[in-house]
Amino acid sequence: MTSFEQHIEVAAALPVDRTFTYGVPSSLAGLIMPGKRVLVPFGRRRITGYVLGPAEPSNGYKIKRVLDVLDDMPLFPMSMTPFFRWVADYYLYPVGEVIRCALPGGLNLYEYVTFSLTPGGETALSGTMLNPTEREVMELLRQGNLRPREISGQLGRDVPWAMLQNLERNQWIGRGRELRGGETRTRMERYVTPGKTPVAAEKLSASRQKILNVLAGQKEISVRSLKEYVPTAASLIRAMAEQGQVTILEKPVYRDPFGEPIEPDTPPQLTSEQEAAVRAVQDALDGGFQTFLLAGVTGSGKTEVYLRLTESAIESGKNALVLVPEIALISQMERRFRSRFGEQVAVLHSGLSAGERYDQWKRILREETRIVIGARSAVFAPFERVGLVIVDEEHDTSYKQGSDLLYNARDLAVVRAKMDGGIALLGSATPSVQSCYNVRAKKFRELVLSRRVEQRPLPRITLVDLRKQRDVRGARRFISPVLHKAMTEVLDRGEQVLLFLNRRGFASFPVCAACGDSVRCAHCDITLTMHRLESAYRCHYCGYSREATPQCPTCKAPRVQLLGMGTEKVEAAVKALFPAARVARMDRDTTTRKGSVLRILKTLKNRAIDVLVGTQMVTKGHDFPGITLVGVICADLSLSFPDFRAGERTFQLLAQVAGRAGRGDVPGRMILQTYTPDHFSIQAARAQDFRAFYNTEIGFRRALDYPPFTRMIQLKISGKEADETRGVAEQLGTVCRDVRVGEGNFTGEIEILGPIEASITRIADWYRWQILLKGRRVNSLHRFVRRLNAADSSLFNHPRVRVVVDVDPFFMS
Ligand code: ADP
Ligand code: ZN
Repeated sequence: MTSFEQHIEVAAALPVDRTFTYGVPSSLAGLIMPGKRVLVPFGRRRITGYVLGPAEPSNGYKIKRVLDVLDDMPLFPMSMTPFFRWVADYYLYPVGEVIRCALPGGLNLYEYVTFSLTPGGETALSGTMLNPTEREVMELLRQGNLRPREISGQLGRDVPWAMLQNLERNQWIGRGRELRGGETRTRMERYVTPGKTPVAAEKLSASRQKILNVLAGQKEISVRSLKEYVPTAASLIRAMAEQGQVTILEKPVYRDPFGEPIEPDTPPQLTSEQEAAVRAVQDALDGGFQTFLLAGVTGSGKTEVYLRLTESAIESGKNALVLVPEIALISQMERRFRSRFGEQVAVLHSGLSAGERYDQWKRILREETRIVIGARSAVFAPFERVGLVIVDEEHDTSYKQGSDLLYNARDLAVVRAKMDGGIALLGSATPSVQSCYNVRAKKFRELVLSRRVEQRPLPRITLVDLRKQRDVRGARRFISPVLHKAMTEVLDRGEQVLLFLNRRGFASFPVCAACGDSVRCAHCDITLTMHRLESAYRCHYCGYSREATPQCPTCKAPRVQLLGMGTEKVEAAVKALFPAARVARMDRDTTTRKGSVLRILKTLKNRAIDVLVGTQMVTKGHDFPGITLVGVICADLSLSFPDFRAGERTFQLLAQVAGRAGRGDVPGRMILQTYTPDHFSIQAARAQDFRAFYNTEIGFRRALDYPPFTRMIQLKISGKEADETRGVAEQLGTVCRDVRVGEGNFTGEIEILGPIEASITRIADWYRWQILLKGRRVNSLHRFVRRLNAADSSLFNHPRVRVVVDVDPFFMS
């Protein structure tokens, strides 16, 4: 019998619901570590798996052996394994796939085959069997492992693959895999300091003298700043450095998202409310897991609270994780954290290139940084000892991942803090119903910042009833007289206006006046939106687009009317009404290129924009002191979404966009145009009172048995054939009902709604159905879905129809 030195548990990056035990041959024993990837045989294939830890060999099975270890260094610390398992259990997702999703994307891009010299190769080199090229290659490998490309590069000619294989067959060279980061490095900036050789100034040219004078005053200056004194500095200092008059050094610099250097900041004196919040959390920092909800009105200085608490956490030897919903906001958060903590900050988000992300990942793993700021995926940052997890704008729906592993980073943040005995701090001006409920249930502790800093008032909000605007035509339909007047005043004073409409494009409802048909997508069950700039009808779900002509696709009459509005139409209206104003638009259409969001925000900050029109992109967390007026073009669009959270989202959007006004010295104002001025979501937004919203909303949730009173799992069924998809949905429905009344005591526990067609019945040629499972306890829901899978796994593994399990679904359409 073979006896292995050890056995390990391996999670395969495959859709299988369990982990596997492999034996470790003694040749690899020293290399195996939890968190590394291994190559293992699986059926007839060889696949990649992640080492979770040691395992007990199970009897009866023939245990296979690990073929190779793929990493020099673990990709995540061992202490994260329980977290990955938790995520896998909770979201009913294979643990190997959880780990794959957690690791920085594109990791495999950086996996290379490398060759190294073997001891046999060393011997061969001292003999005479090698031809000259082979000798050259092996001499190169003596200095270190190289990729085939690098071998060719260093020799200056192509090395045939067959030759390498031949050397490998002779066991003179060995093959390995290596992970390497991308080419991106920390940005470096050149600095100049006075040289070591004293010089007689009178012998120098005037420019050189000036450089030395500037240096004498400052000791050290960046070449960039030096150019402001002496424009030719860059070329002069090179010559000066050669003569020892100055010394040039390179230092890593951190820039803010606007490209400006970040200066260290001085912490402000905390307000008494900030002080109380900071103290409450500080007192809890060493007392084990606890979750706080920081409910602070917009502009109340929540970030300062985060900064102080991060400082306390790292002072006590722990690490801090800061989650922010969106890249543009991450940059803002990053700037403030860098001015306070300098190089101790790492960032993780999808705006980084794969190489940059991998570099950040390595810095965190090596504990070179103590603070990680990032978007939702940063909840998987490879840290140990997480003492503090901050979730800024905790109500934001972008914390929910919409594909693959459908996790909610806000919820996982709390789990992560719990596993490490740390503190979770969720912050928002408009906390989610879920979190408010957790406060009432005493699961979270609430901290309140009820006032803006520096006694700035909250914006004054005026409602405009759009029902009274019905027969107005043209540009004035979107800009009511009240809004028009307010805009005129603000623009006259040289201040800035933000206009918000939650829909992009020019016309969302192109419809034929002759036959009454709307112009629809060829692949989705949805109306196309007219985009005037490109003169195209476009689908917002699948990207399909066609030329925009007035001719009706159905009856061919040239009578398509461009009904419905969008940000493009609002922009046009503003330009028509305020010809002198500088108008810009920020939505997904104007921000497709990398860096464009930041470019628009920078122009706004520099006051080169008077009116910014945008979708919800403009509502989130930005801090622009010049904006004194916010106009909401139509507050009702998000109310009609087929989702039980529609009211909650509407309230949050409106209260957040109001929060963009009056953050500077001039008080702010918001004008809110709506068809339903009496709706409680709108009334609560007007009062900027999340408690008022909560108190009404929670009643509906209770009455209708919605979260937080119940938990939900949604089964999303989709396929390319309409009948087949419906068939699978119906079969799955039957299995659900059978399992419900079968063993397991589900009858009183689980409610089954559906199968029903999704509200958009087809997207990108995929027909869509859904089944909603509701229950009081998430455990029974989990048990129920596992039982479903056991009862008929063929439905979950159908070759053509996809069934996706969404735990705590968010986007119910
Ligand atoms: P919030 O995130 O709550 O909307 P911010 O953290 O962006 O608010 O703070 C709003 C502004 O107030 C920022 O410019 C910030 O620098 C400033 N600020 C925060 N705390 C204080 C304080 N204690 N004293 C003075 N200014 C402060
Ligand atoms: Zn489409």
